[in-house]
Amino acid sequence: MGGWLGNLRVTGRVRPVWSIDFVTSNSNKIIVIGSGPAGLSCTMALLKKGIQVTLLDIGVRKPGDSVKANTSDLDWDNAYERLVNPQGIPLKTTFGSLHPYNQNISVKQTGCMLVSSQSAGGLSAVWGRACLPYTDLELSGWPVRYEELRPYYQFVEQEMMTLHCANPSQSAFPYHSPTVKALPVPKSLGRIAKKLQQYFEVVSARIALNKNREHACSGCGHCLAGCPEDVLLDFSATINRIKEMYPNFSYVPHIKVNSFTETEENVIVQGESLKGEGEAVSMPADKLFLACGPLATAIIVLGSQQEKQDVEILDSQYFFIPFISLKPLLKTEELANYHSSCQLMAEHLNSRPWSSFSPPNVECGDSSPLSEPCGDESPHSKNPPIGLNGARTTNRTHLQFYFYNEIFERVVFHKLPFMKRFHFALMPIYRRLGLVQGFIHSDSSAKMCLKKAENGGFELSVSKKAPSGIKILPPILWKLLKAGLIPILPGLQFKLPGQSFHNGGSFPMQSSGGFLTTEANGKLRGFNRVYIADSSAFPSIPATTITLTIMANAYRVGDINA
Ligand SMILES: Cc1cc2nc3c(=O)[nH]c(=O)nc-3n(C[C@H](O)[C@H](O)[C@H](O)COP(=O)(O)OP(=O)(O)OC[C@H]3O[C@@H](n4cnc5c(N)ncnc54)[C@H](O)[C@@H]3O)c2cc1C
Ligand code: SF4
Repeated sequence: MGGWLGNLRVTGRVRPVWSIDFVTSNSNKIIVIGSGPAGLSCTMALLKKGIQVTLLDIGVRKPGDSVKANTSDLDWDNAYERLVNPQGIPLKTTFGSLHPYNQNISVKQTGCMLVSSQSAGGLSAVWGRACLPYTDLELSGWPVRYEELRPYYQFVEQEMMTLHCANPSQSAFPYHSPTVKALPVPKSLGRIAKKLQQYFEVVSARIALNKNREHACSGCGHCLAGCPEDVLLDFSATINRIKEMYPNFSYVPHIKVNSFTETEENVIVQGESLKGEGEAVSMPADKLFLACGPLATAIIVLGSQQEKQDVEILDSQYFFIPFISLKPLLKTEELANYHSSCQLMAEHLNSRPWSSFSPPNVECGDSSPLSEPCGDESPHSKNPPIGLNGARTTNRTHLQFYFYNEIFERVVFHKLPFMKRFHFALMPIYRRLGLVQGFIHSDSSAKMCLKKAENGGFELSVSKKAPSGIKILPPILWKLLKAGLIPILPGLQFKLPGQSFHNGGSFPMQSSGGFLTTEANGKLRGFNRVYIADSSAFPSIPATTITLTIMANAYRVGDINA
């Protein structure tokens, strides 16, 4: 670890653990908190401007750290065990480890399930790596337009990941990187896509792969349980890459930040070391960028001031629809060698005829009234784009298609153990099985409220129920059926708020707004030196994948405030 950290000393329980060098220096010092996709993108932007950046992070590492190439000794049964149980599919693990979800924060949750990662690289150890950008439709009501985000998407897609996309040209979503056909995709996908195209806006899946990866995809199909070849993007490896590239970068893991205090000269970050005896940490900086994910960022902000005791957190709720196809989806030989990440995406346009629009008087960043009827989300934009059949579109429901993978087989064996004997006889059925993972816009989802509790901890509960979320499903089920994919209704699951991992909006960017909203540049109102770099600053949580935009926006916030 270079620079001032070389002098790190811990000598007592309540004292700054950082060196005198750092405390007294006046050079431009910036602290970023969190090493997930948001924190690392923001850090990259600042480092590129030649600024000295210290990244503070809880930074738990996964056991065995990076598992590569030699797959023979991996315990796949253990890796799948937690993924498959009678309750359905619980939290995704990485080789059976739940380390990305370890959390030692005190939040009592009622009716919701919001996770705060404390892992090096954040939730990127387990994420699905599906990456679509937002368009101006998704950015309705934001003070930032697609054109402003475009250069940052470009940077992120080209410099921080390799984005695999089977067919980038055929899409309503712009693509910012050269085509890389790196993952084996079943040929029969083209036929399924064609069928779905009649009812949905079909998009080729885009999967984020590690930059500079050493191994090619072997097509082993274990993507959902852990990639043995390190092909799928996990940002814990990116931290080392940044360390090698920039001498002015310091990474300090095992620090849990609790709060910050702003003075005229600086902002002081307070926390505790999770190593040793839990010494207190106090660290000054010129500017602070918070990128801990929506729950942890909100806890740090609420823990830093007296006035406000609660914040609302938005969610893009999600659902599972298992289905069986009338015709085989995959050929038998295709079951053996392909990747099992999301393979196809489709957008369902929630629309109503233009004539029925009377655009409400919505302020920038205001979420639409919850009383809006189903599937007819209130338009933030006065000119919503034209969707299928010439109807004006208000927002999308995002669908991700997963075809055969080992989990299907294990679910069948779990529920019907005697079927193990008929493993091969079941092949024709597996070839027809699939799963849709769908996400709805935050306007149609429940909202959560995070409050300071009297015992000093925090409480998270549902503040507003999903006004229309569940009603979005029938047209989608009907269209799947028309496309020849029969929904298995007993398997349908509508998940709790928070479970989608697509959330934020607690300190929304607004052109003009009140205390603890953010300016369009990410600065937290009420403070002069504090910026929000993660999805906490999103004015809404659109249905499509969130992380690419988290990264592009974090890069933008770092770049314009360096
Ligand atoms: C199973 C799963 C599948 C997903 N699939 C997709 C997908 O396919 N596509 C997609 O776009 N998104 C997906 N996501 C969501 C994606 O992982 C998140 O959007 C993304 O990780 C958010 O990045 P972040 O940097 O804001 O926060 P995180 O990734 O949560 O990182 C937070 C960082 O902050 C640090 N931290 C937290 N609290 C503190 C504290 N008090 N002090 C110091 N450091 C702290 C943590 O150590 C961590 O490094 C998925 C998530 C999961 C769990
Ligand atoms: S199929 Fe999935 S898990 Fe296997 S090497 Fe390729 S990307 Fe990794």
